[in-house]
Amino acid sequence: MLTGIVAVFHLWVHLNSTTVALTLLLLVLFLAARWGLRYALATSIAATVAYNYYFLRKLERIAINDPQVWLNIFAFLTVAVVGSRLSERVRKEGADARRRQAELEVLYGLSRQLLQTENLPSLLNAISPAIMLVTRADAVMLYLLEGDRRYLAGDGSGIPLDDIALRQLAETLPAPETTVSNQARIPLRVGVRPRGLLLINGVNLSVETLEAISGLISASIDRAQALEDLTRGEASKESERLRSLMIDSITHELRTPLTAIKAAASTLLLPKPLDEAERRELLTVINEESDRLNQLVSEAVEMAQLDTQEVHMTFAAASIRTLVEKALTYCSSLLDDHEVKLDLPDLPPVKADADYITKVLTNLIENAAKYSPAGTPIRISAERKDGMVSVSVADRGMGIDLSEQSLIFERFYRANVPSQQSWGTGMGLAISRAIIEAHHGVLSLTSQLGEGSVFSFTLPVFEG
Ligand code: ADP
Repeated sequence: MLTGIVAVFHLWVHLNSTTVALTLLLLVLFLAARWGLRYALATSIAATVAYNYYFLRKLERIAINDPQVWLNIFAFLTVAVVGSRLSERVRKEGADARRRQAELEVLYGLSRQLLQTENLPSLLNAISPAIMLVTRADAVMLYLLEGDRRYLAGDGSGIPLDDIALRQLAETLPAPETTVSNQARIPLRVGVRPRGLLLINGVNLSVETLEAISGLISASIDRAQALEDLTRGEASKESERLRSLMIDSITHELRTPLTAIKAAASTLLLPKPLDEAERRELLTVINEESDRLNQLVSEAVEMAQLDTQEVHMTFAAASIRTLVEKALTYCSSLLDDHEVKLDLPDLPPVKADADYITKVLTNLIENAAKYSPAGTPIRISAERKDGMVSVSVADRGMGIDLSEQSLIFERFYRANVPSQQSWGTGMGLAISRAIIEAHHGVLSLTSQLGEGSVFSFTLPVFEG
């Protein structure tokens, strides 16, 4: 390019030497900005020589100590140095801005990913893949001192540290650093206490970004932990509330049979002689009401155990037909006034705890008998549905109002039907639902007021 300019001005366009000097200066500035100092310096010297030789015709002055030549060289060199410095600075600032933008995008992406997860175990599992995704790292490992837990994403072969080395690094590393092999090591802290370490392989991020990642991770872990503590607190408050509700309810329910027993016993103890029929009636009251008390207490205990998952269930292959037949014998006394229709085709065995499912069936059949008028039939059927067996107990009773359909599964809830003379604890359906859910099934209801109700539950097929 230099030769070109010199040739053009020397051979064809004859302008004064100042214009030539300015054009050459522009060339040096252009080279300094474009290709940096080295090219600009070499061109400056060549331009000085060419300018003096062709345009000032003072070649001999180059050799001797002519101040004009030195001035030329000085001007070209100054333009080269200043031009290259300036352009380098602009280039560097541009690159810095781009890098900062990319790092900001990394942090933004990471914070979005981490805020999506609120549950602590899934957050811990999500951190490494999220960092790997947003930083495009080869591998990421989150190490927590508590329990020496490691969460790895990507190829772990680049992270050869053993537990002892990791622990030591997590406890002693004062600030984030990047090793020569492009491994970023970021200490994680709770306040000033070390919490763990984050290793990111194959990235080149600034210390500020690494520090921000560390802060982001610590904040998200703290947040998930706080949320969990809150939920646990609320759950324990809720279970406390339920417990006191249960105690209130039981106390209330216990009072009725106790009052009856007390009254019957007091009458029996009176000095006034009673005839045989009266004595028998009072003793029957005591007998029946004690049974009721007994049932209330055992149901309350059972519900409490199901609530706290203290119940031990043994899941084995069970035939629905056998379970239904067993339940029917348990509630035979209530079925005198009802015709029971069975529709139980040959079905695969279900995976169930036979005693508990019999209890559910007994409860549903008893309810069907209790809440439907004498003479109406009760239909028990079963079918295979989506890999489960669905069992239904249908009656032609009073039905349940839509507004009450979900409430009747609540413990102690008894629908407010005026004709409801049969006593109950209001716990049968709550217990049944808890049992079915423990079997990974669903207990549901379809009912229409005045038409009847169908209670259905599903159980998984026994897979051997
Ligand atoms: P309990 O029968 O001891 O009252 P449950 O939990 O078994 O308690 O039932 C809750 C309420 O649901 C009952 O009080 C009753 O009002 C209503 N219910 C249950 N089964 C039926 C049914 N087959 N038909 C109509 N109402 C029913």
